[in-house]
Amino acid sequence: MKRLFILALLLLPTGLWAQSAAVKKIMEMAREDNRTMQHLDILCNRFGGRPVGSDAYDNAADWAVKQFQSWGLEVSVEKVGETCVGFNRGGWWGRAMGEYTETLYFTTPSYTSGTKGPQRGHVVIEPRTWDEFNRMKGTLKGAWVLLKSKSTGWPLDHDAKAKERRHAAIKENEEIAKQNREAGVDGKKRPLNEMPALFYDEMVEAGVLGFIQPTTVPIRTLYDRNMINDGTTTFEQLPTVPDIKLDEAQFERIYKLAEQRRYVELEFDIRNYFKMGPVPYHNVVATMKGSKYPDEYVILGAHLDAYDSATGGVDCGSGVSAVMEAARMLSVSGAKPERSIIFILFAGEEFGLLGSLKWIEDHPEKLDKISNVFNRDGGPMPYTAFYAPASLVKEYEKIAKPIQELYPSYNFTINKLEPRSVPTSLGGNDATSFMVKGIPAVQMAEWSDPMGYNFDYHEIWHTERDTYQKSIPEYQEQAATALAIMALGTANLPTILPRNEVYK
Ligand SMILES: [Zn+2]
Repeated sequence: MKRLFILALLLLPTGLWAQSAAVKKIMEMAREDNRTMQHLDILCNRFGGRPVGSDAYDNAADWAVKQFQSWGLEVSVEKVGETCVGFNRGGWWGRAMGEYTETLYFTTPSYTSGTKGPQRGHVVIEPRTWDEFNRMKGTLKGAWVLLKSKSTGWPLDHDAKAKERRHAAIKENEEIAKQNREAGVDGKKRPLNEMPALFYDEMVEAGVLGFIQPTTVPIRTLYDRNMINDGTTTFEQLPTVPDIKLDEAQFERIYKLAEQRRYVELEFDIRNYFKMGPVPYHNVVATMKGSKYPDEYVILGAHLDAYDSATGGVDCGSGVSAVMEAARMLSVSGAKPERSIIFILFAGEEFGLLGSLKWIEDHPEKLDKISNVFNRDGGPMPYTAFYAPASLVKEYEKIAKPIQELYPSYNFTINKLEPRSVPTSLGGNDATSFMVKGIPAVQMAEWSDPMGYNFDYHEIWHTERDTYQKSIPEYQEQAATALAIMALGTANLPTILPRNEVYK
């Protein structure tokens, strides 16, 4: 019996043996030592929200480099770009007092100003014509200004172009106001242009404390894209007053009181800080070199940057933590993939897929040799299927076996992929940067919530709710394991994914 076993060992091709031993080890780690949530804890709760240009982004990138290195991977830090100035967020709170007393629920977009400590002041409603402005200009100093139009998540524009647009809108309002006056008391009235903060510069000059816009809840706040895209903003041109997006129900109550000229004061303390630029930001790229085809690649990607009104627990902590754990599992397992596996933590996805586009631009020689890009950026869900190119369905059925064995309740299946057209425009994640180039970026299905955790992507998507607790540990752990197993299986296939079976 024993002799037979040894004979069988000798007959087994060494590559296959090594792989099955590695997969076994991965399965053991999946059961007993899955560290996906540990990575996520550090990412979210030690570093926090991580827009590019922030210290938190750089801290997270430094940490990821050290982690990949400690697992024996080759790591390169590749510059993607730089922001003209940097931004770091601290805490914030606010309250209303007077005839309405409540803790206020709000956030501010990234790259906008904080307060000068706790600042308390009365409330005014913004003027829309010069008449309205002149009537109330004496009340602006020390006031919080209510802007009627609802927030879109973007900050108020404050550059020279915005000033031109505003002055054109004020002119239009002067005309409308004149017509409305001429129409008489009972005549038909035209509504005024409600572009927010028409007198932005005049109000800042008059000494307002800041601007407040209503927003739906959860609160979505983004970043100053004019500043980032234009790239010429200097430290001297930064906004100087806060740009607050307040729960619309609370806004409504305060607005009513202000209209009725009743007593209400607001107090805000917002710790938004800038730093001198330019601030460079980088992709973190870790490589596990292929033993047989080192110049062919399987890529595992996720974006390291995240909005900072929360901590990027899901977007894209769910991707980063799973990709990092897959890297650790593969390294510790002793896997010797035949093709190289590259783990990329992309920079600046939220500012326009910047990291993935730059990686593609910087590595033209690799593009034809990429088998598949697995990019995780769709929430904390488990993987439940993979649609494989027709000629590889049989191979993937074998590859997927350990995933099915480990997580039977998720019912992971392999199906046949119907070739699709190469997309012509970029979409909402880094995978699409590869797809538009005709590079396979076939993702595992991650849309179902088999255990019923009532997850709602819209709730966390760029909102103040996107924290560590919104992640789902058992799903995240499955995702990391599935990524490790699928990456290794794909790296050991007889061929790279045939592109004519992925795309029409
Ligand atoms: Zn994302």
